[in-house]
Amino acid sequence: MKNGNPESRQPKTRREFISDLSKASAGGLLLSTPYLKSSQAKTWTVGEIIDHFIKEIDGTPFPRTVDTIKAGNRDIEVTGIITTMFATIPVIEYAISTGVNFIIAHEPTYYNHLDETDWLENDSVYQYKSKLLADNEIAVWRNHDYIHSHNPDGVYSGLLDKLMWKPYRVNESPANLKIPAISLANLITHVKARLGIDTVRYLGDDDQLCENVLLMPGAMGGQNQIRLISETNPDVVLIGEAEEWTTPEYIRDRNASGKKTSLIVLGHTDSEDPGSIYMKDWLLKNVPGVEVTHIHSGNPFRFG
Ligand SMILES: [Zn+2]
Repeated sequence: MKNGNPESRQPKTRREFISDLSKASAGGLLLSTPYLKSSQAKTWTVGEIIDHFIKEIDGTPFPRTVDTIKAGNRDIEVTGIITTMFATIPVIEYAISTGVNFIIAHEPTYYNHLDETDWLENDSVYQYKSKLLADNEIAVWRNHDYIHSHNPDGVYSGLLDKLMWKPYRVNESPANLKIPAISLANLITHVKARLGIDTVRYLGDDDQLCENVLLMPGAMGGQNQIRLISETNPDVVLIGEAEEWTTPEYIRDRNASGKKTSLIVLGHTDSEDPGSIYMKDWLLKNVPGVEVTHIHSGNPFRFG
């Protein structure tokens, strides 16, 4: 038994992974692994997979989009795909250890919306992460504008599925829902259970009955959030995140001025992660022969 062998816990490089596969092949085990199926099927490049997805969306390719390749290039032959919210260093290490070389992430790799890196050139974290990607020939593509423009919006579709709220849409927008009346406390319990969230931050009275819901995953910006709250007058608003001085302060004043609107802050990653599950399902259906895994990159915070 080698359970205590520290080497067994080290992430594998791709070379070690391939070597393990060859050993398995020599032992006749490869026939039962999915990897042989992949090698027999059509091979896909990063660019082909991107093009295959975005051709389903009107007006593509978008002339201006943040959905660019952040590492690697279009010509890399894909050995497997991970869909996730953030290409964190642990997600990249997992890709390396499992022989996967294409990460499709919903959010930026380098901590700003456009993934500009000039300002980070002397930063050791940027240097570490970009080298890790380059050394292991991992491609990263951001799929943000496109998945939100897919029909249906992949993030909302995945999120409504997970919350079991698809039947409660009231108009064209997946943001507006009328759910069976439920107290705010019970609504929070439902949302936490369905999305696997331990802790949310919220404003409102636990006993308030909630029916009209405004759902805004991710970080839509304070002014967008406030405008929609003002227009739709919901009982409760669920957001991914907001700067504390924007929407939360508006909600506080709104309640003090006589309206009754509660706010639940889900956390950015947890609120949009179902979109990465939607993407995994799309790829499994439309890109045959390629291994696809979804990884929840997780909430960066602990709660003290
Ligand atoms: Zn999003």
